[in-house]
Amino acid sequence: RAKSVGRGTFRFFEPEMDAQLQARRMLEVDLRKALANGEFELFYQPQVDIRRKAITGYEALLRWRHPERGIVSPAEFIPVAEDIGLISPLGEWVVHEACREASGWPAPLKVAVNLSPVQFRNRNLVQCVKQALEESGLCPSRLELEITESVLLQDNDTTLATLHQLRKLGLRIAMDDFGTGYSSLSYLRSFPFDKIKIDQSFVQGLSSRADCLAIVQSIAGLGASLGMSTVAEGVETEDQLVQLRAAGCTEAQGYYFGRPRPARDLTHSLEDFGPVRAAE
Ligand code: C2E
Ligand code: MG
Ligand code: MG
Ligand code: MG
Repeated sequence: RAKSVGRGTFRFFEPEMDAQLQARRMLEVDLRKALANGEFELFYQPQVDIRRKAITGYEALLRWRHPERGIVSPAEFIPVAEDIGLISPLGEWVVHEACREASGWPAPLKVAVNLSPVQFRNRNLVQCVKQALEESGLCPSRLELEITESVLLQDNDTTLATLHQLRKLGLRIAMDDFGTGYSSLSYLRSFPFDKIKIDQSFVQGLSSRADCLAIVQSIAGLGASLGMSTVAEGVETEDQLVQLRAAGCTEAQGYYFGRPRPARDLTHSLEDFGPVRAAE
């Protein structure tokens, strides 16, 4: 059956689609209230120096504790937050919270914060980061911002200018999910990143696919010659770690070392992450 949606237009009424739409609307309504209700929390996952086997810092990963649904994944709600204009206030909260929590960790442990490309369209981004650093007292060199290639895809001079202004604050910039975009190499030339994060799809293919090993080796080599550190994402096994080390990656991050955890559960000791892993 067809349903009038006004102005002489008709659309077919599909109960299934309607349910999907309704779920999306509900998510939007809930999301709008979530920040004020204090339903967001940051989890932290360790990044490890492969040679020293020591934690260098943590990546902050956003979690939403929905009152009825429990923990909702950022993969589900970040795109919605971007669509409905919520990512800027939410992103500001993340930067402030991450800096505040990291300022309580022993130096020189770092914190890495993910930024959405949409946040780069907001003129206040640099001011927000500056303020978060000042209010928390966190040394800027202990803050790292992770951006994906899509930030540079929307490139205009403003994006690059913003990146340079951020860098001027004394923090570091990492390229996230490297290798999954369209023209990664030219992006490396357009901005002097401090760190390249090798996408987890390459790491996960290490044991079964020769091409993944070749790709990881070249990214690590590229990083070394450009003076950038290279972090392998999604490391789950000892075997992957051995290969990554041989390939010349400097850091690793993944379930092998530990899953993301709430700030209160961090002891900053790699050994303490171990037993949890074994229990899972
Ligand atoms: P990402 O920045 O690439 O983060 C890495 C993702 O891989 C995280 O998923 C992490 O939990 C997961 N991961 C870590 N180790 C392993 C592993 O060994 N195996 C597997 N299979 N997965 C692993 P998560 O926390 O669900 O986040 C997904 C994405 O959501 C992030 O990808 C990032 O793009 C985005 N995100 C998370 N927090 C924020 C935030 O505060 N702001 C923005 N704008 N985006 C965020
Ligand atoms: Mg990231
Ligand atoms: Mg990533
Ligand atoms: Mg990702």
